[in-house]
Amino acid sequence: MKIAKNHVVVIEYTLTDPAGNVIDSSRGRSPLAYIHGIGNLVPGLERALEGQAVGAEISVTVPPQEAYGPRDESLVQPVPREKFAGLPDLKVGKQLQAQTEVGPRIVKVVEITDDAVTIDANHELAGMPLHFEVTILEVRPATPEELSHGHAHGPGGHEHG
Ligand code: ZN
Repeated sequence: MKIAKNHVVVIEYTLTDPAGNVIDSSRGRSPLAYIHGIGNLVPGLERALEGQAVGAEISVTVPPQEAYGPRDESLVQPVPREKFAGLPDLKVGKQLQAQTEVGPRIVKVVEITDDAVTIDANHELAGMPLHFEVTILEVRPATPEELSHGHAHGPGGHEHG
């Protein structure tokens, strides 16, 4: 069976940055089960997997436009220091959940001065080409229930209580 829209695909994967550092990997834990073609994975990786079959090993580098998008420097903004008054151990590199114009987002502290804390609301992988090594373990049609939930069930997929 070949990978096509609305199929559940079970993969082992390793994601590395351009320097070869491992960002994320399923190896050593359970494989990942996802529904193909509905945006569960970044678009460039879905494109590389389309039409592949069980046993295939894919090696692909996805440009930022087909992954987490380019960096947007307007998302790097100073916020008055007093807004963080209740937060202990505020330091550069710390990640926080913040309310933004587009809803709650994880932001990263990039600079702290006496008056302001500069936060970066870009996705951590924005602007970065991503390299994936993927092995395809299983391909099957998604069930109606999985399609209505928007995620795969069973091993490697979503576990409901
Ligand atoms: Zn579900």
